[in-house]
Amino acid sequence: MYDGSFILSDKKTFTIDSKQKILVLGPCAAESQQQLLEAAQGVIAACKHLSAFRVIFRAGAWKPRTQPGFFEGMGERALGWLRQIQDDFGIEVATEVATEQQTRLALSYGIRTLWIGARTTTNPFLVRQIADACSEWLKQNSRASSVNLTIMVKNPVSPDLMLWQGALLRFAGIVGEENVVAVHRGFTGGTSGLRNAPKWSLALQLHHLMPHVPLLLDPSHLAGDAVLVPQVAKKAVELAYNGLMIEMHPKPEQALSDAAQQLTPRGLSDLLRDLYATEVTSSQATPSTAATGLAAFRAQFDELDDELWQLILRRMELSVQIGNYKRQHHIPVLQSDRWQQLVHDRLVWAEKNNLSEENVMRILDAIHDESRRQQGRD
Ligand code: PEP
Ligand code: MN
Repeated sequence: MYDGSFILSDKKTFTIDSKQKILVLGPCAAESQQQLLEAAQGVIAACKHLSAFRVIFRAGAWKPRTQPGFFEGMGERALGWLRQIQDDFGIEVATEVATEQQTRLALSYGIRTLWIGARTTTNPFLVRQIADACSEWLKQNSRASSVNLTIMVKNPVSPDLMLWQGALLRFAGIVGEENVVAVHRGFTGGTSGLRNAPKWSLALQLHHLMPHVPLLLDPSHLAGDAVLVPQVAKKAVELAYNGLMIEMHPKPEQALSDAAQQLTPRGLSDLLRDLYATEVTSSQATPSTAATGLAAFRAQFDELDDELWQLILRRMELSVQIGNYKRQHHIPVLQSDRWQQLVHDRLVWAEKNNLSEENVMRILDAIHDESRRQQGRD
């Protein structure tokens, strides 16, 4: 049972400094009081040895669904359950708000940590309305002993750095820079089996622009697959992110949203144990600057290589189509004048960009060879 290690000295005051380690854990959606209770117990058990972390229990009350006909959350009822978890377990709780009205409601239930979803960050009108609702609440409660609100802002679905920073700045202006958190969950257009495209360099740029704002990684929405969550989560440690937001469900196979990507309580425990092997102090949890720098370069390399291979694959798929077209129209596979022109243009380009003509020629030859091989296929 709960050993009390997460009882916060002052439940209402959560001030962040950028060195702080944060874990936001819990189900995609609040589905029932029992499910939330089991999930909260799982989170607390998984974090028993991680006293250096600020642990936040997450659950969505309203779920943004791309298409109609799916579970859209339990709404206001879920807020009551979350409040109960906060009171009974003394754990900080958070939920997603996407409108002014949802924000007012969540605040009225005593939830002081909110997150802005990727689809909402995309819309400056909504961001502004939510920020106004927070501002109004802060004014009304300014005489209370502690009036902190924490706002976590997910990256927008499109890879637009200014939009992400813009939303963070808007909230920082209301709740203070020390009370906003950035969450990197990837961008529409995932490849290599990932639900979303990581674009590590964009998140690292945001960190560069706002070094005092903690940056978390959400490997659940980035990967979209529970099997891939651990390897994506590992990147957050290599790149010295401030922590993670991870989805966990007591019975993932029965989850009403994002079933494929939610970890079991056991999976979460194992992952956190593997990532943070023993009790970590804040300094141990941060890899050296040199290691982080190298990991950041490598992450960008991996991403570029991935794009490169995807492009090569698309080119080969096109080759198969061209091969079929040529066969139907009785055109020979190799057309030497076209090839001569391609080589000439690329070598001029290589020289202009200070690349070895010999190496560029080898790459071109290899691509051309494989292309011809593909054109010969049906
Ligand atoms: C979520 O955290 O459950 C969620 C809907 O996330 P996102 O906004 O990243 O899609
Ligand atoms: Mn989700």
